[in-house]
Amino acid sequence: MNYRTRFAPSPTGPLHLGHAFSALTAFDRARARDGTFLLRIEDIDRPRCKPGFEAQIYDDLAWLGLGWPEPVLRQSDRLDAYAAALARLAEMGLTYPCRCTRRDIRAAVSAPHGPAGPVYPGTCRARPMAEAGPGDAVRLDMEAALAHLDAALPGFTETGPAHAGRHPLDPAALRAAVGDVVLARRDIGTSYHIAVVVDDAHQAITEVVRGLDLFEATPIHVLLQTLLGLPVPAYHHHRLITDDTGTRLAKRDDARAIATNRADGATPADIRVMLGL
Ligand code: GLU
Repeated sequence: MNYRTRFAPSPTGPLHLGHAFSALTAFDRARARDGTFLLRIEDIDRPRCKPGFEAQIYDDLAWLGLGWPEPVLRQSDRLDAYAAALARLAEMGLTYPCRCTRRDIRAAVSAPHGPAGPVYPGTCRARPMAEAGPGDAVRLDMEAALAHLDAALPGFTETGPAHAGRHPLDPAALRAAVGDVVLARRDIGTSYHIAVVVDDAHQAITEVVRGLDLFEATPIHVLLQTLLGLPVPAYHHHRLITDDTGTRLAKRDDARAIATNRADGATPADIRVMLGL
């Protein structure tokens, strides 16, 4: 199978050195395998995305020497595909509508807390999808999803240095740390988790290259891929680029923006050296 990977930024700010590391790592891995590097714009969170940032992504990546042989996939053009995946999970009886606010959930939960905040206590779990209204989010019924997979628990292969090897899904960890995860936010009608698995399959991605900050999200993606009958790619979670104090770079750290380094006279080769590539 031909190697295919992607870089999938959200246009919510200027790309910084952490993004450059991710894009260059993916590009280099594709090139070394005679494979294909693709670009996807993850712009489902419309209010936070700005066209100017998207234009700057193309400009920064081209400046770094990256090219992508297929048209850019924009998630805002793909909402029907995400709705179809959600409908499929609903038909399988694995989702329910949820009207709880963050405050409701905080009030109902004392523990435990997963990586994405408090694990949902299941207040709305008995509500049928037929009751779903426009103000509702849609959640995965984790217990039903695990029962659906039964003994056939899938896993994924990690090729990144920090956790290299085979990772079978761990039902206890999914229950304790993830629980009934939101698959469709009430404001945008979908979620990162649904969009990323639908698009990785659509783009026939064989290895997902992304930061270690998303390692905890990967079992959710593998679970959804398996429920939806989609292929499970390999995953390569790379180290995170931190600032001098060891803090992970965020998009608002303009000093580390690629554009700022360019304006200061850095060359693409300098950026590679700064990143240890
Ligand atoms: N859009 C995500 C981000 O900018 C990346 C998602 C992924 O690589 O799966 O952090």
